[in-house]
Amino acid sequence: MGLKITILGNNSARPLLQRHPAAQVVYCNDEPFLIDCGEGTQVQMLRYRVKSWRINHIFISHLHGDHYLGLMGLLDTYALSDRQHPLHIYAPAPLQTIIQAHLSAVIPDATYPYPLIFHPTDNTEKKLLYEGNHLSIYSVPLVHNKIHCTGFVFEEKKAARKMRKDKIEEYQIPFILIDGIKKGNHFELPDGKIIPNEELTTDSRIPQKYAYCSDTAYTESLLPYLQNVDLLYHESTYLNDKIQQAQQRGHSTAEQAATIAQKANVKRLLLGHYSTSYYDLLPFLTEARPAFAQTYLSQEGATYDISQADWSEHEIKTEYFQPQCSKQD
Ligand SMILES: [Zn+2]
Ligand SMILES: [Zn+2]
Repeated sequence: MGLKITILGNNSARPLLQRHPAAQVVYCNDEPFLIDCGEGTQVQMLRYRVKSWRINHIFISHLHGDHYLGLMGLLDTYALSDRQHPLHIYAPAPLQTIIQAHLSAVIPDATYPYPLIFHPTDNTEKKLLYEGNHLSIYSVPLVHNKIHCTGFVFEEKKAARKMRKDKIEEYQIPFILIDGIKKGNHFELPDGKIIPNEELTTDSRIPQKYAYCSDTAYTESLLPYLQNVDLLYHESTYLNDKIQQAQQRGHSTAEQAATIAQKANVKRLLLGHYSTSYYDLLPFLTEARPAFAQTYLSQEGATYDISQADWSEHEIKTEYFQPQCSKQD
């Protein structure tokens, strides 16, 4: 089934109508993992039919407000909905103090009715945060104005080989042996003849990789973590007209994001974390594509399926304003 990414918010700093701060859901075999939780994330989940009660793991990149100010509302909603199952949060350590302060102020015994397990992130090297049957999730250090900030890399595990049904019938293979054959065992016929595993099974598909890098200055220190990923979401807060601002504030331009994608040999690039100062987003694409052709503009509400070969539905060719986006003074 592979990895799919639903964008809930891809704007930086201040929200605009229909352009919300950072939040997205990564689905692995339909299990949702939330990355960042900007203001308005709960409403966005309702709008785009994300089943928030199924989320058990939340990853916060850093503590600028546009990446976590929606979290307290979500944690309270879980309490109001009588959530019982554990919730894991992976984030910079000070977030735990913030959550505790919020809890102490509003809840008499300062605990949620569900177990909240906090995992402080480390931004010095690549670190394993989560390991499941199908997926490993790592944090990777980003360079963002000296604030503790990490990206996240999702790596699918190679699935077991698939049993060929025709071979089960052909050799009358007992059900009890099938699991072992999927793991690589050969099969021995009653006359002692060995049927090799390669004849009995087919290989599973190539595991997929997704990397999330928001927010970060242009830095080639990221390249080792991003090599050959299938999809890279890389911030592109600015266009080249504000390259100095990007440098000063620890952000990247669209062209810089594309350069990272090209140097890391990724398959596709999704741009996001657009500055509120831009209304038409098409120039982000125009500036990025010469450096990396497989660049796409992330759109709020869209779901990006890594397995899908044809992404023409995500292509934007004309001036692009998010629907109902109002221009600010
Ligand atoms: Zn941000
Ligand atoms: Zn930031």
